[in-house]
Amino acid sequence: MALYGVPVLILKEGTSRAHGKEALKANIMATKVLAEILRSSLGPRGLDKMLVDSFGDITVTNDGAAIVKEMEVQHPAAKLLVEAAKAVDAEVGDGTTSVVVLAGALLERAEKLLDQGIHPTIIIEGYKKAMNKALEILDEIAIKVPISNIEVVEEREKAKAELKKTLYTTLASKYIATSDVLDKIMDMVMEAAFTAAEKRAEGNYDIKLDMVKIEKKRGGSLGDSMLIYGVVLDKEVVHPAMPRRVEKARIALLDTPLEIEKPDITAKINITSPDQIRAFLEEEAKILRDYVEKIASVGANVVICQKGIDDVAQHYLAKKGIMAVRRVKRSDMEKLEKATGGRIVTSIRDLTERDLGECSLVEERRIGNDKMMFVEKCKNPKAATILLRGANDMLLDEVERSINDALHAVRNILRDPKIVPGGGATEIEVAMRLRKWAESIAGREQLAVLAFADALDEIPSVLAQTAGMDVLETVMELRKTHAEGRKSSGIDVINGKVNDDMINLNIVEPVIVKKQIIKSATETATTIMKIDDVIAASPKKEEKPGKKGREEEEEEGARLPLD
Ligand code: ADP
Ligand code: MG
Repeated sequence: MALYGVPVLILKEGTSRAHGKEALKANIMATKVLAEILRSSLGPRGLDKMLVDSFGDITVTNDGAAIVKEMEVQHPAAKLLVEAAKAVDAEVGDGTTSVVVLAGALLERAEKLLDQGIHPTIIIEGYKKAMNKALEILDEIAIKVPISNIEVVEEREKAKAELKKTLYTTLASKYIATSDVLDKIMDMVMEAAFTAAEKRAEGNYDIKLDMVKIEKKRGGSLGDSMLIYGVVLDKEVVHPAMPRRVEKARIALLDTPLEIEKPDITAKINITSPDQIRAFLEEEAKILRDYVEKIASVGANVVICQKGIDDVAQHYLAKKGIMAVRRVKRSDMEKLEKATGGRIVTSIRDLTERDLGECSLVEERRIGNDKMMFVEKCKNPKAATILLRGANDMLLDEVERSINDALHAVRNILRDPKIVPGGGATEIEVAMRLRKWAESIAGREQLAVLAFADALDEIPSVLAQTAGMDVLETVMELRKTHAEGRKSSGIDVINGKVNDDMINLNIVEPVIVKKQIIKSATETATTIMKIDDVIAASPKKEEKPGKKGREEEEEEGARLPLD
């Protein structure tokens, strides 16, 4: 632009700008591509993705959240979708693939409306109305799960039987679904979740998932996995002369090294005689001995330290019969703090008897070729650890992700004990009712509501596709069965046919998850549709090889030799 012949620069040189319909189309394209990638991972017949990160580490998974986390998505609109999937994962722990697939479908349908000359704001309004109606419909069709008083043994078993139905569906698409230890794993998950459950005034339960720890140890097989009522640490006792087993443990949780810290600055000490060396070392030993005296004087018989423990300090601790573990992760320290009712102390001088945590047993046990620490039967009985065993890290990681999903599923149901049928049944039913409702909407918004309903069909379509069924035929058949009032007829993906009763087949999902999927997908799709201008700064120029800074070189070195 020139004003009186003087050029006015608003954007930096090299900035690219896409405007209006062109910008919107590009954004929709990017999200469609992402949805396309994830489609094939949906459901129990979904396939896995193998992802290689920039360090060459490999992840094999069909967990939507894990896929989008590992993929280094570049396009800004696709990134929005990735964020939505991550948010759903954080909120309900499931439904990530569905969010991406649904958002992609919503945008694809929106694109068609745009091509017919309908303005984005009308589509956005229509989608929002349809979303609210869909949430209402979900409430109408949700089925209550009879779960109460899980503290009572018989009720607990009943609740487990109910929860298992949902867990089958959550885990159906995972590796462990086909393993012979599925039942054992589900039982561990439910026990762990119940252990961490807190009853709320409204009669439902809240599960403090941060009280459940998943610890992985390579070796053995999945069937060797176990549940521990307490906290397990991948650590061993530091000194051979220390006890391996302490009952009625009183635990000092330290976030300070039991070492003489070296000064940060280089200090020079002039020593002129051997006596001075001895005096110097003796002084050091005395400080460490005083630390240990202090720990013993408050009554601790176990020390769990986030930092290091010096050889000399270890020796003194062993002499006092105190068990010690060092370099424990911060997250574990925090779990121990909650589980044992202790307090992490940052200065030995401030340690008092009240800071000590308590539990019935701390023991070092051999697991495979390694030793691990078991902190059991803690003061706060809400802590639990699932110790996973398995042949390799990739398997362990995938099982950990599945267990996380399962824990979330239990939490979802205990929070709001309502389920809906899976296998596409719910989507078909909601879409059908939306289409009917759309008749009451005037003008072009009606088209948007209808497009929204069509987008919901995408989930059963993809499920049918993964099962090798005829997509169109299947969706039509489902529309027919639902029109006849068979509300829970859906796709039995495993046997590749339509089944009239998903609930009976135990293909069910928490209504919370379905709601979250619809909300997040709609929000993301409408956010993307509102964008009519993409102004992107030019990417930082890559410097020529040979002139790189050190850091860049290191990054470069870590990259895979793909290019
Ligand atoms: P997400 O990441 O969205 O949770 P999943 O891969 O877990 O994706 O697939 C979930 C979908 O698979 C849901 O729509 C659910 O109803 C469906 N599903 C799960 N098990 C079955 C089954 N046995 N038959 C048909 N559909 C199933
Ligand atoms: Mg799932």
